[in-house]
Amino acid sequence: EQRGSNEREFLQAAHEVLDTLTPVLAEHPEYLEAGVLERLVEPERQIIFRVPWIDDDDRVRVNRGFRVQFNSALGPFKGGLRFHPSVTLSVVKFLGFEQIFKNALTQQRIGGGKGGSDFDPRGKSDREVMRFCQSFMTELVNHIGEDIDVPAGDIGVGGREIGYLFGQYRRLTGRHEAGVLTGKGTGWGGAQVRTEATGYGVVYFLDEMLRRADDGIEGRRAIVSGSGNVATYAIEKVHQLGGTAVTASDSSGYVVDESGIDLELLKQIKEVERGRISDYADRKPGAHFVDGGSVWDVAGEVALPCATQNELDADGARALISNGVRAVAEGANMPTTPEAVSLLQEAGVLFGPGKAANAGGVATSALEMSQNASRERWDFATSESRLHDIMRDVHDAAYAASERYGRPGDYVLGANSAAFVTVAQAMVAQGVI
Ligand code: NDP
Repeated sequence: EQRGSNEREFLQAAHEVLDTLTPVLAEHPEYLEAGVLERLVEPERQIIFRVPWIDDDDRVRVNRGFRVQFNSALGPFKGGLRFHPSVTLSVVKFLGFEQIFKNALTQQRIGGGKGGSDFDPRGKSDREVMRFCQSFMTELVNHIGEDIDVPAGDIGVGGREIGYLFGQYRRLTGRHEAGVLTGKGTGWGGAQVRTEATGYGVVYFLDEMLRRADDGIEGRRAIVSGSGNVATYAIEKVHQLGGTAVTASDSSGYVVDESGIDLELLKQIKEVERGRISDYADRKPGAHFVDGGSVWDVAGEVALPCATQNELDADGARALISNGVRAVAEGANMPTTPEAVSLLQEAGVLFGPGKAANAGGVATSALEMSQNASRERWDFATSESRLHDIMRDVHDAAYAASERYGRPGDYVLGANSAAFVTVAQAMVAQGVI
C-alpha cells in the first residue's frame, strides 16, 4: 500500500484480487511462505520514457510512454498498449496486474504486462499518429521481442497504430519478427478473428453463464456501452446469437436504437470515418442520442460494459437491478466499481469479471503468436471455433473454482482463485526471483 499509495486504480485492482484469496491461501500456505503475494504486486520491470514527435504545424510535442512488465512466470510478458489522455502509471499497472490473471486463465502460457501513453489519437491526422508511433517504438524496441514481451492494442490502439509500430520495429531491427506484436493486419502476419475476439468472447462467456443458470442469450435485450473495438464486436455476436443490442456509447453520450444497433452503420462511423456516436442517431431513423447521462438507465436483460474502467458505478448497478437485469459481463477492464459489483452480486445478478469474460482477445493474440512461430495461417472458422472453446474453458474453470472455494456461481472468486493458483504454482517452482 505504502509503495503505491497514490496509485488509485492499481490499488483497486490489487484489492479486488487479494480480498478473494483467503480460501486458496488457507489450502496452500506454501504460497505465503514463498512470498508469492509480495512478489506478485511488484512488477518485474517498469519503463517510463519520453516520446517526442512533431505535429502537422511543425511544433515539437512530448508525451510520456510506459511499459510495465509485470510477471513472466508463465511466458513472455503479454498485454496491450493504451493511447488515451487518462493514461498514468497507476492505470498501466492496474491493467498489467489484471493481465497476469487473465492470461493465466487462457491457459496459453503468456505472462502479464501492459503499456501505453497519455497521447490522444483523437483529432490527430494519420501522419501525426504515424510519427507518434514511430517515436514510441524507437524506445520500446529496446524492451520487447517475441520471447520477451509482446504488446498488442487497447483503447486508442487498433490496426492502424499496430501497423505503424510494427513498421518502425522492422526498420530499427532489420527483422520481420512477426511475433513481436499482435493485432497485425491479416495480410502481414495477423490472425483471423483477432479484431473480433474480445467482443465475441465476452458474449460467449455471457452465454455460458446464462446457460448454466437457465437459458442463453437468444431473445434477450442487451445494453452495451462503448463503441470501439470491443463494443462493436460484442454487439455483432449478440445479434448472431439471436439477442438484440439496443445501445452503444462514447464519452459524449449514448444512442438507443430499439430495432437493434445497425452494425454496418456503426462500423462506417467509428472504424472508417472515426466519428462520434451522436452521428449514428443523426443518420438512423428511429434512433435517438442522449447527451451525457448513463446508458445503464436503459432497461435490458443483460449488460455489457465495454468502454473503460469504473464506468458502471453503484447508481448504474441500482438502475440495472431495478430494471430486472439478469447478467452483466465485463468487456472492458475493471468497468464495474467494487460497490457496484457487490450490489449486483447481492441482487443475484450473474456477474462475469473482465479478467475471465474479456480474455478472448489476448487468447486469440496467443493463437496469432503460435501461427507466427509455425508460419501457419488458420481460416476464420477454425480460429473462431478455437476462441469459442477457450471461452468455454475459461468459464468452466472459473465456475469450478467458485464451487471448490465455497461460493458456486461467484465468478469473481472463481476467476481470481483459478488464475492465482496457476501463477503461484509457477512462481513457487521457479524459486524466489
Ligand atoms: P477503443 O479505443 O476501440 O474504444 C474505447 C471506447 O470506450 C470508445 O467508445 C471510447 O469513447 C470509450 N471510452 C474510452 N475512454 C473513455 C472514458 N474515459 N470515458 C468514457 N468513455 C470512454 O478501445 P477497446 O474497445 O479496445 O477497449 C475498450 C475496453 O476493453 C478497455 O477497457 C480495454 O482495456 C478493454 N479490453 C480491450 C481488449 C481488446 O482486444 N481491444 C481486450 C480486453 C479488454 P471515446 O471515443 O469518446 O473516448
